[in-house]
Amino acid sequence: MPPKRHLISLSDLSTAEVLNLLDLAERMAAAIGLDDGKAGAPVHPLDRILATLFYEPSTRTRLSFESAMLRLGGQVLGFADPAASSATKGETVADTARMVSAYANVIVIRHPLAGAAKVAADSASVPVINAGDGAREHPTQTLTDLFCIRRELGTLEGLKVGLCGDLKYGRTVHSLAPVMAQWGCEIIGIAPDELAMPEESIARVRAAGGTYTATASLEEAIGDLDVLYMTRVQRERFPSPEDYERVKGVYVLTPEILQRGKETLRVLHPLPRVDEIAPGVDADRRAAYFRQAAGGVPVRMALLALLLHLPCTKDTSGAAGFGKAHRPAIQPLGEAPAPEPTVSGPPCQNPKCITSTEPHLPAEWYERELGLVCAYCERPMGVPQ
Ligand SMILES: [Zn+2]
Repeated sequence: MPPKRHLISLSDLSTAEVLNLLDLAERMAAAIGLDDGKAGAPVHPLDRILATLFYEPSTRTRLSFESAMLRLGGQVLGFADPAASSATKGETVADTARMVSAYANVIVIRHPLAGAAKVAADSASVPVINAGDGAREHPTQTLTDLFCIRRELGTLEGLKVGLCGDLKYGRTVHSLAPVMAQWGCEIIGIAPDELAMPEESIARVRAAGGTYTATASLEEAIGDLDVLYMTRVQRERFPSPEDYERVKGVYVLTPEILQRGKETLRVLHPLPRVDEIAPGVDADRRAAYFRQAAGGVPVRMALLALLLHLPCTKDTSGAAGFGKAHRPAIQPLGEAPAPEPTVSGPPCQNPKCITSTEPHLPAEWYERELGLVCAYCERPMGVPQ
């Protein structure tokens, strides 16, 4: 039996596995005609089912997973609205994941509470993919970001990466910054003090071997950057309307500000945008955010192919299946990394943690450098949300 692997956090994949996945995604992109707009290779049925358990709405993420599975030739079932699921009858995430394991070969879960994907993985008998669990992680977004950066710039190494906007609450930048740091990138945080990158995230960047500098001025920083990653700044994040008015507009990327950037600069955004990138920027070759979003499908195809252990073959003689006719040779995933050891302790106090609604879960803690953090939500012990 090949090992059962999950993707709950990006740290579930080694650096080599991430690069292997991105290589495979390139070939998936070619197979579906991502760049040339052609229909791509014919899709033949694949005898696999993906279950999408979306306890909070996220149309973009759900559709990209469904598209990925359908393009592999597989089938999809699930719910996009928890009101339609047994959650309204009080069924736990653990029970739902165990039950759905009998209906599907792989599970994608999105949940408003941190740690829900780990709970699902702990009880499912099939691979589980985290499609966003509260403030914690959204690893397929980060893989999609990496795929885009590598395609646009030809490398992930030694880049100057500017992260702009809401660096305090922005989940995508918390994941991307330490990963880019692993490849020796310089991270430049561009944000007002109120939305600065949390110390723990900066510590992760430095621990991964990267540098972190902070600035408040997009106009001053943009000239040096290889990547500008824009995020939404939400009015409600500010303590007062005056504080918001002070920075409003400072973080709107306009064609005039973009003029200061290098010709090779690439602008990314996890989308949806509100007003932080002026529509006038879209026509600029440096605007990569729509190409970034399109890359989410081949990245998820590659991930599903790896987790489902689709046979690795160059054999083109077979008749059926995306894979049999067109599946590229791939390096299968090996054993999962050893789980991080836990210690028991008091219940987590974070109201946004899955343990807050599923109190039967054992209170488990990781011992990290800065102290104990909850094994579900990763909040430090004693720190309220
Ligand atoms: Zn917790």
